[in-house]
Amino acid sequence: MPLDRNKSMHIVCTDLEGVLVPEIWIHVSQKTGIEALRLTTRDIPDYDELMRRRLGLLDKHGLKLKDITDVIAGMEPLAGAREFLDWLREQTQVIIVSDTYIEFAKPLMAKLGWPTLFCHTLSINAEGAIVDYHLRQPDAKRHVVESLKRLNFEVIAMGDSYNDISMLKAASHGILFRPPQNVVAEFPQFPVNHDYRDIKTAISRILG
Ligand SMILES: [Mg+2]
Repeated sequence: MPLDRNKSMHIVCTDLEGVLVPEIWIHVSQKTGIEALRLTTRDIPDYDELMRRRLGLLDKHGLKLKDITDVIAGMEPLAGAREFLDWLREQTQVIIVSDTYIEFAKPLMAKLGWPTLFCHTLSINAEGAIVDYHLRQPDAKRHVVESLKRLNFEVIAMGDSYNDISMLKAASHGILFRPPQNVVAEFPQFPVNHDYRDIKTAISRILG
């Protein structure tokens, strides 16, 4: 068999919240009744300020990591997400690239069948309180895509919001999944899919 020098090896980088699971902080806000925990980067664009505020609120209300993970353990992936992800992992390699924290994500990863997850981490003190957060690196999503491309992968990236845009731009194929209308309007260069059936079709076409 002759070598097919143009054959590419694909990999999918997918966002987590809003794509496979609901927004974690919004769920925590609903369950704890702390309204201000609903704030996202759309309300406070400075991520450090937003996280300091969130950690301050948890401290003020005496909420420890276990209180938050108990709430998260009650969350379910979006309807059809597990089936979609299982299908995708049969077709190609998949990395979930998220701005969440490993300590928060674990209960949801169990429900998704323990896929590979690249995200950030928290510092927890002896009393179990969350005292700090650590980004693995700034603009981590974009760096993952760029690094995989250097490893000769053709990267398909999917996400729903502003924090995915640099990843989608860096990818060979960027796809918006269930984005809010303002994101669609601002980034018309990306195809938009609203359900798992449609994005399966779109990805199948790319994989060939
Ligand atoms: Mg998201």
